[in-house]
Formats: sequence, C-alpha cells, structure tokens
Amino acid sequence: MDTWPLRYEEPVFRPPSEATSLIFQLTVGCSWNRCTYCGMYRGKQYRVRPAEELRNEIRSIAPAVKRVRRVFLADGDALAAPMEVLEQVLAEIGEAMPGVQRVGIYGDSRSILTKGAGDLAKLRGLGLGIVYFGAESGDPATLKTVRKGATLERQIEACRIVREAGLKLSVMVLLGLAGRRDSERHARATGRFLANAAPTYGAALTVTPVPGTEMHSAVENGSFELPDRWEMLQELQWMLEEMDGYRGVFHANHASNYLPLKLRLPRDREATIELLDSVVAARDESRLTPDWARGL
Ligand code: SF4
Repeated sequence: MDTWPLRYEEPVFRPPSEATSLIFQLTVGCSWNRCTYCGMYRGKQYRVRPAEELRNEIRSIAPAVKRVRRVFLADGDALAAPMEVLEQVLAEIGEAMPGVQRVGIYGDSRSILTKGAGDLAKLRGLGLGIVYFGAESGDPATLKTVRKGATLERQIEACRIVREAGLKLSVMVLLGLAGRRDSERHARATGRFLANAAPTYGAALTVTPVPGTEMHSAVENGSFELPDRWEMLQELQWMLEEMDGYRGVFHANHASNYLPLKLRLPRDREATIELLDSVVAARDESRLTPDWARGL
C-alpha cells in the first residue's frame, strides 16, 4: 500500500479497551462540546463525514487489515450521526472486513435517546457491539454544574435503552468532578447511579483539568478545588459503598488513576473498600502510582 488510506483529523480519542482496534473517524468533534471539564474536541467543529468518503476508506484499507477483529468508530459522540450513515458504514465494514467481530462507538445520552432501542437493535444487527457512554456523575447537581446536558433520569434511561437493544454498555464516571466541596455527594450518587445503570463494564477515571477548559480556569482562579490523591481514593471508597447492587466488571485502572484497580463485583467490593480505607488512613504512598507514571 503506497499511502495509508485512513484520514484522521487529530486528535483522535478511543477508550483504553479499544487500543488494538482499527479506528474509522465517522464524525469529527463532539455534537455537544459544552462540558466544562472536557478539552477533547475543543478546536473541532462537529460534522459527520460523508458515507461515501468512509466507504472508500473501508474498502481501501480492508485488504491490508485482514487480521483486525475490532473496529472503533470515533469521534465523540459518533452515535449522533444519522441512522443512514451509521447503517451504511456498519454494512460496509461487515462486507469488506468479514473478520471483524465487534464494532464499538462513543454514544452520549442524547444520541442514545434519540436513536432509541429499535434503531440501536438495527445497528446491532449490522455489527455494532458496544456503546461507550461517558456519564461522569450520578449526581443531578454536578451534572448541571459541569453542563453535561442530561439529567440523571435521562442518563439512567439511556443505559436501559442500550441494554434493551442487546448491546454491551461501558459507562465511565469521573472521580473529582464535583471538586472538594461536593466530593461525597457526587461519589455516593454516582455509586448508586452505576448500580442502577447496570452496565456491562463500569470504569472510574480521575478528572484532570485540561488547559483551555472552564474547569481549568476555575482551578486557576481558585473557585474550584480539586480533591487531592487521598480524597480521590476516598471518593472511590464512597462510590463502592453505594454499589452493593452492582454486578459485573468495574475498573479504576485508567492512566489517570492513583491506585489501579480491576474489580469484579460484588466479589471484590468489601475487600476493596477495606483496602481503600487503610491506604487512605495510612497515607500509604507505596500503593500509589506516582504522578510521573500516570501517563497523562
Ligand atoms: S465530555 Fe463527551 S459530551 Fe462532553 S464535550 Fe466532551 S466529548 Fe462531548
């Protein structure tokens, strides 16, 4: 192949679990782009790429990637693209790349609710396997403050719809999102939300103020205080304390996290709560990932 046929408008993000996936950039930017903590797509004007352009990319790359088993559709949230584009792209992937076993996509509550379980089930029939949903918090006040653009009820309904469509659901939440002041309220409400949302996979990441975002400015001017490392772990403990109804995989091993954890709940819940309690009480540095190694 003389030239790489995939055209990316950088930066392109994907969930850690899609590290080995082939990425097609179905949309550029985020259809919402207003969350106060997010700098991922700040410079990008949201647009859906033409299905024809994507079809050419899929056909051109297919012969060179016969061993690819997973595909991820970027940017965030690509699920907001019109149904006909999603259907065409998934059908094309299925035809040109028959070895692909799963296609993943970022989906926000708005796009999930707009599509509904019927459309999502259609996309599942065409090869879509998993929706990654950044819910970030289960606390109504925090959702409002960070301008997530969704109520708690709508986030829970979005999760229910993805499950009803028979798709895998991965839900991400953010430690530290409500700052020091509302730390416990955010953590406990988010734990209850996760238990209610019943995702296939849950993940807690640690919020990192990114220059250029409203959250970063608030940290700089002192109106927002980020919890420190121990307070972030305390949040994780509070979250787990509220997750007694949660069944399945729960990870807090993202590069942003101070104490990497891969849990299966409810099996690991009690022991992890005890571990967090003792690490926080003892300020046990030996258990933490140092800042230089957090890979941010
Ligand atoms: S957090 Fe998600 S929905 Fe919010 S602006 Fe960033 S990509 Fe868009």
